[in-house]
Amino acid sequence: MKISCISVYQVTLPLEHPYRLSGGRLYFDQLDSTIVAIDTDEGIRGWGEGCPWGSTYLPAFGRGIRAGIEELVPQLLGLDPRRTDLIYRTMDTALPGHPYIKSALDMACWDILGKATGLPLCELFGGRIDQAITIQNSVPTGTPEEMIESIKRGQARGETVHTCKIGADVALDIERIKAIAAYLPPNESATFDVNRAWLVDDGMRVMNAVTDCLFYFEQPCETYEECLQLRQVTHHPIILDECVQRYGDIVRAQADNACEAIGLKINRVGGLTKAKRIRDFCVETGIRMNIEECGGSIIADTGAVHLAQSTPETHLRATWLCHEMLTVETAEGGARNQGGKTFAPDAPGLGVKPKMDVLGEAIAVYQ
Ligand code: MG
Repeated sequence: MKISCISVYQVTLPLEHPYRLSGGRLYFDQLDSTIVAIDTDEGIRGWGEGCPWGSTYLPAFGRGIRAGIEELVPQLLGLDPRRTDLIYRTMDTALPGHPYIKSALDMACWDILGKATGLPLCELFGGRIDQAITIQNSVPTGTPEEMIESIKRGQARGETVHTCKIGADVALDIERIKAIAAYLPPNESATFDVNRAWLVDDGMRVMNAVTDCLFYFEQPCETYEECLQLRQVTHHPIILDECVQRYGDIVRAQADNACEAIGLKINRVGGLTKAKRIRDFCVETGIRMNIEECGGSIIADTGAVHLAQSTPETHLRATWLCHEMLTVETAEGGARNQGGKTFAPDAPGLGVKPKMDVLGEAIAVYQ
């Protein structure tokens, strides 16, 4: 089987509610998504999506993906897409680094492998676990009242795990945490995601002011070193997110006892092939994971849910479905919210059927 054609689509994804994080300094009202279709000489078509969370959240941006694909495609035409490791080594040789631009191409190759073998991706990633995957509700930064309103919207969807965005203002952060903790029913939980907004002493002041119970704090500071310094002076569990970008980062974090959990975002680490390797390391070494996308529509979300659906329940915290926050639907099928839980589809491959009227004309076709 050979790759015969790669088509690239650009879709703008408006957010239903504008979103602020990292203490409010980062603002988002739409996402720029790149969806790719890889065709083969045997008539199988695979789909993938790469969608950074805007341009300010990570060193990644939508147009960068499309420029990177243009650079990579000449090396991929004619290769067997089922050989996912070989495809990945080819991409890394053709263009070192830039992991986020490779994710959509990698996902489309996995979709082809699944369709060619008749298996959903979760089976190829190690085998389906029976349990439903918990969906976490992503709660933007706001006043305590605004954040509780956003929690209520998640509760209406059946979600009981809430990732609450804080940061920047020590007094307000303490107020937010106390208000949310007081509001939440006993069977629900909150993670406080700082998205790099604190300096170390900010974190010490906030975390030492909320010692009544243990809360997970996510990516408190900009750098790994700052997060590690804070880890050493708090008893609250730490989740590393933005600073886990490649395999070596999690090896180092495990050796340093830097975190109890990570956010494993598929696009950030370079796609499902790379994310699976990090997932396997975390399972071996006892690190819990949120397995999810950086952003994107149902296509990207479903890829992440397949990896979650093959991860031991003991090591999995939750996933997040970005597509629930959008006003457009790019595909039928996929991993949907079923009362706060989701499942990877049973269909071969990703299990999504893109809506060609939403994708529109391809902006580039390589063959
Ligand atoms: Mg995070």
